[in-house]
Amino acid sequence: MAFFDKISAAAKQAGDKANTAIEIGKLNMKIKSENASIEQFKAQIGDLLWAQYKEGKVTDPQVIALCESIAAANGTIEELEAKINGLKADNAAPAQPVERHCPQCGAVIADDARFCNSCGVRLDNPEE
Ligand SMILES: [Zn+2]
Repeated sequence: MAFFDKISAAAKQAGDKANTAIEIGKLNMKIKSENASIEQFKAQIGDLLWAQYKEGKVTDPQVIALCESIAAANGTIEELEAKINGLKADNAAPAQPVERHCPQCGAVIADDARFCNSCGVRLDNPEE
């Protein structure tokens, strides 16, 4: 085999290897896609069985046990959500407004008042 023939044979072999790797990659992608479909179908089967369980139509004890686990998890989720809502409500409760009083006569005065409405004394406005 001539020198250049050897080189082109080696190049062809390398090219074939690369093509094989690409082909295997494509096939693996298809397998991954099919596996994703299987997971979706399994989830749909689960939804169907869950719906049947809620209607009291499931008799298989293994399915019933799994559905009871789902029901228990749902109960836990409800408790946790109630806790979150409680925390949010606590946080959202308006703080008690701090009343401002006139230093001279003690009358309640507006936050932005410059003079006391009751005695007329000039007030230090905290924002100035
Ligand atoms: Zn006053």
